Amino acid sequence: MILVAATTGIYVIKLGTSLITDVRTNEVRIESLSKITDQIANIKEHKGVIVVSSGAIGLGLHAMGLDRRPREMAKKQAAAAIGQNKLMNQYEKLFQKRGVTIAQVLLTKDGISGEPGYTNAHNTIHTLVDYGIVPIINENDTIATEEIQFGDNDNLAAYVAQIANAELLILLTDTDGLYDADPTVCPGAHRYEVIDEITPDICNSAGQSNGLCSVGGMCSKIQAAQRATSHGIPVIIANGFEDGIIERIARGEHCGTLFVPHTEDTP
Ligand code: GLU
Repeated sequence: MILVAATTGIYVIKLGTSLITDVRTNEVRIESLSKITDQIANIKEHKGVIVVSSGAIGLGLHAMGLDRRPREMAKKQAAAAIGQNKLMNQYEKLFQKRGVTIAQVLLTKDGISGEPGYTNAHNTIHTLVDYGIVPIINENDTIATEEIQFGDNDNLAAYVAQIANAELLILLTDTDGLYDADPTVCPGAHRYEVIDEITPDICNSAGQSNGLCSVGGMCSKIQAAQRATSHGIPVIIANGFEDGIIERIARGEHCGTLFVPHTEDTP
């Protein structure tokens, strides 16, 4: 087994639920997921890659006879426990085609916020990346519900980027970046290309750009960007359905909305 050079930068790539599952059918969006895994396999030749993936709840619904996300938290957690296995199965099949080995890592914010959890997660993740393996990370939804209630793993991805000392955190979603208004209802909405500082105005835009601060909306992405940039990690919010988006970002093309890092520490 060849170890990846220690100097190789690490990309943390977060894939939102809408990229992975079709919310109408709760089936995997195999075409878009396979385009993403192909791109990851391509950039892996030069970068370490860690995936933070949602999608477990949606994939567990059929087995419970449900056709939409239930309200009850325990049912969502049960669906996640069923769907996580299906999700990993899909990743296994897609990455195997490209000769990429994956590993499942389930984390909770509480578990990695202090010791010994932080160091254990750090050591496991870095060792996997050093061996050229792609960790696929999700929240452990059986014992934590934060990302189910608010976030769709955006905040978890920021914690992971911090643990990984990532070169870049990419939050892939189904919109082209952060807008100053909801682009689906305001034709004149303007996309921010570069955000040097997350001001209250930017936070307000996030609230307006997706109506409600719901699971996986822009609010949690701004929070994630705040955490990562305050630890010196740049963040890009971009559209995961766009062809070649990850490879274009890796080539240095300007895509989506870039949040410029700064060094003031977030506790
Ligand atoms: N852990 C959740 C999942 O994999 C992500 C958050 C959510 O979808 O609400 O489905």
